[in-house]
Amino acid sequence: MGNIVAIVGRPNVGKSTLFNRLTESRQAIVDEASGVTRDRIYGKAEWNGVRFSVVDTGGYAVNSEDHFEEAIRDQVLIAIEEADVILFVVDVITGITDYDQAVSEILRRKAKNVIIAVNKVDNHQQIPEASYFYSMGLKDLFPVSAINGAGTGDMLDHLVKTLPQQTYEEDPEIPRFTVVGRPNAGKSSLINALIGEKRNIVTPLSGTTRDSIFTRYNKYGHDFLLVDTAGIRKKARVHEDLEFYSVMRAIRAIENSDVCVLMIDATRGFEGQDHKIFSLIERNRKGVVVLVNKWDLIEKESNTAKNFAETLRAQTAPYTDYPIIFTSATEKTRIFKSLEEAVKVYENKSRKIGTSKLNDFLLPIIENYPPPANKGKYIKIKYITQLPSGVPTFAFFCNLPQYVKEPYRRFVENKLRKNWDFTGVPMNILFKKK
Ligand code: GDP
Ligand code: GDP
Repeated sequence: MGNIVAIVGRPNVGKSTLFNRLTESRQAIVDEASGVTRDRIYGKAEWNGVRFSVVDTGGYAVNSEDHFEEAIRDQVLIAIEEADVILFVVDVITGITDYDQAVSEILRRKAKNVIIAVNKVDNHQQIPEASYFYSMGLKDLFPVSAINGAGTGDMLDHLVKTLPQQTYEEDPEIPRFTVVGRPNAGKSSLINALIGEKRNIVTPLSGTTRDSIFTRYNKYGHDFLLVDTAGIRKKARVHEDLEFYSVMRAIRAIENSDVCVLMIDATRGFEGQDHKIFSLIERNRKGVVVLVNKWDLIEKESNTAKNFAETLRAQTAPYTDYPIIFTSATEKTRIFKSLEEAVKVYENKSRKIGTSKLNDFLLPIIENYPPPANKGKYIKIKYITQLPSGVPTFAFFCNLPQYVKEPYRRFVENKLRKNWDFTGVPMNILFKKK
């Protein structure tokens, strides 16, 4: 669980090409089940059975031209703080640049696990040139070609060995919640309102994941672990405003929890950054509760909340089945309700439906509205079963799974959601050969 690899390096060295190569196969599996569109910055990878997340830091625009170096430096520092392994990409054709020197110096001083990918080594003849990069003083260096894949296997063998072992002293029965959102949305205020000043801690559990601490609480009759991100604990960081920073922070917290409480600021609406965090939650297949906070500051008419909720759901469509709660962390309005909803979403996420119940309900619907024939062939769904998984996952066994299209996947998902409560929970729908 929860290993993050961050790809750093200057523009044009091949970071996004390498990102695609690393995430292609694993992400395809995730995407197939979820219908979520691909993300070019954050994805899942797997090598030798080891899973990890990959973030391409180059996907985050560095705004000011003038302060380019400073901004890049900041990004590298954040990546070092937040990721388990840094994959530093350089380009064999251009050789070592000033930027590469500067970054390698930071990495030498501050980073624990660094791997250098000397990219664009498309053939054997270029391998000797790759070794010039040893002069940067970092030892784990691999000549690779992101385009044709050469050398990436050796690099990945080493990479997965470098990933820290993640072991938790954790009780799987206790739900893990986290509060995420843009800076100033009200996360710390919510946590203070919810749990007070550490008075109700049962036992502090330290996750081995850096900067992410599970604290166990027993409040209002609920037992839960709160995944506290350092972003919440250490306030007023210099780079708190950088989108890259808050996204990196959110990734770790999200990956470590079951249900994410996404806080948005009612006075700002649902912005780009909120959207990014929402999709991170969705693509990690975690439960979600959306809190529209600072609701005390909004002038209300009869339909204000309803309209806000409708607009919000329209923005996250087709995923619209999640709770939205209007809160005020400072006035302590609906704080308890937020916790209740998170618990409910956790229960929904764990819901198991028996095979006969599933088939009794779905087969008649499918009979009436079968998947459209494709290439002159009828698709026949024979039976449905829920697979054991942390996320509700339903396998539809049929003769020609490859011909079932996204709209039909949505159709059956909506039917499932109408009949059983899966509010706030992502769902995997798989069509399998039988
Ligand atoms: P980024 O800006 O670091 O994300 O770089 P990109 O992945 O966008 O790649 C920049 C350019 O380098 C593109 O034209 C790629 O096709 C090219 N490129 C990437 N990897 C390789 C490689 O392994 N060999 C060669 N010859 N070109 C590559
Ligand atoms: P964080 O960065 O997400 O942890 O946000 P904070 O909890 O530090 O809150 C940022 C600012 O918004 C602080 O000045 C809070 O007092 C204020 N704030 C948080 N929640 C509310 C709320 O519900 N209503 C109002 N009016 N202000 C709030």
